[in-house]
Amino acid sequence: MMDTVKPNPFATAQQQFAIAADHLRLDEGVRGLLSTCDRELAVRFPVRMDDGRIKIFVGYRVQHNIVRGPAKGGIRYHPAVTLDEVKALAMWMTWKCAVVNIPFGGAKGGVIMTPQDYSSTELEQITRRYTSEISILIGPQRDIPAPDVNTNAQVMAWVMDTMSMQAGHTVPSVVTGKPISIGGSEGRTEATGRGVMYVTMEALRHRGEDPGAASVVVQGYGNVGSNAARLLAAQGCRMVAVSDVYGGIYNPHGLDLAAVDALLRRDGTLTGYHDADQVTNEELLTLPCTVLVPAALENQITTLNAARLRARIVVEGANGPTTPEADRILRDRAIFLVPDVLANAGGVTVSYFEWVQGLQSFPWTKATVNAKLAAIMRRGFAETLAIATEHNLDMRVAAYILGVSKVVRALEERGIYP
Ligand code: NAD
Repeated sequence: MMDTVKPNPFATAQQQFAIAADHLRLDEGVRGLLSTCDRELAVRFPVRMDDGRIKIFVGYRVQHNIVRGPAKGGIRYHPAVTLDEVKALAMWMTWKCAVVNIPFGGAKGGVIMTPQDYSSTELEQITRRYTSEISILIGPQRDIPAPDVNTNAQVMAWVMDTMSMQAGHTVPSVVTGKPISIGGSEGRTEATGRGVMYVTMEALRHRGEDPGAASVVVQGYGNVGSNAARLLAAQGCRMVAVSDVYGGIYNPHGLDLAAVDALLRRDGTLTGYHDADQVTNEELLTLPCTVLVPAALENQITTLNAARLRARIVVEGANGPTTPEADRILRDRAIFLVPDVLANAGGVTVSYFEWVQGLQSFPWTKATVNAKLAAIMRRGFAETLAIATEHNLDMRVAAYILGVSKVVRALEERGIYP
């Protein structure tokens, strides 16, 4: 039986798409095409561990749709990775690129594993072999990976090097989110968090909230969450709670993020922070605040807690943090939600900038990257809000209408091959 509290992410993605498809009165064939993924690759591969044993890993690379351009999407290393999760993340990438008008299609990859269990050498071997397995799909004009949960610039460097060794020459544009020394873009590491900050500022303005009086809770103090927190604090917001996988810290008067960062570097966890109460991730989601930023994983805001949320605005840094039933509860409670396909699109936007810089071998300054990112995120927010306002829809349905209609238009103009 389907779990309605924590649904299968692909079922969630399909349900969200179906709502937009109904509004757009999509043709049945087009609907069928876009509610499934074009290509799904599952790979099983051996890696020799440091102690000489051979271990078998399972990974995936999925392309949902490539009608608007080459496939684009991150690689996730996590024990809970499933094919359906990767399919959902790939579909969300298609809509996300369309919402912010980036000329990419949607893809995603993942390996089922707990990265903390492996040495750096083992992680490198796993990454290189996984890259080799999915090399039949990826490439600078075909499908371009990027970092996601538990992967980073180092992992992207190994992917790029593996693809380059196979090609016999350096292929920088096969991945984004690389280190700057090998063709990464200024501003890419913080780009998703920066985009979250821009749309949060737009949401506060739209709701007549003063950023200087706004309190913010962030679930998941990783790449997206920590950068969003730091940049929102720089805009004058008070960060009252943050968390990682082990739990959170809460101080209604505000957290000292520099101290939090120092602690994380020292201990690898937030729990040693003294000037705050310890809270569980579940408690953190229902703390009183102006803005809640879920920036960890899927299925965090569910029927179990949606009625108890005390945020006035939710900005989805993570992909799929809100279930469809929770979505309805938040809408009925007039909580303003900025959906993932808009809120976290800053990452793929600067990935696109990195890809363009790589193809042209011409790096941009950080100021150029950030100015172009700001313009794209603000335009995406304004266009989504205009649809929401005109048709009296919530921001998720509006963003889907904006994204899906662009994909359908491209499909219609290209036609069906042969
Ligand atoms: P990350 O690995 O850098 O950070 C994840 C954070 O979440 C860590 O602090 C981890 O401790 C915490 N976490 C993990 N499981 C948790 C749980 N069950 N409860 C609470 N916290 C938990 O990953 P990231 O790149 O920041 O990605 C976070 C989310 O943002 C994901 O949904 C990802 O798909 C999405 N996203 C990432 C990017 C990007 O550029 N990295 C872009 C768009 C969307």
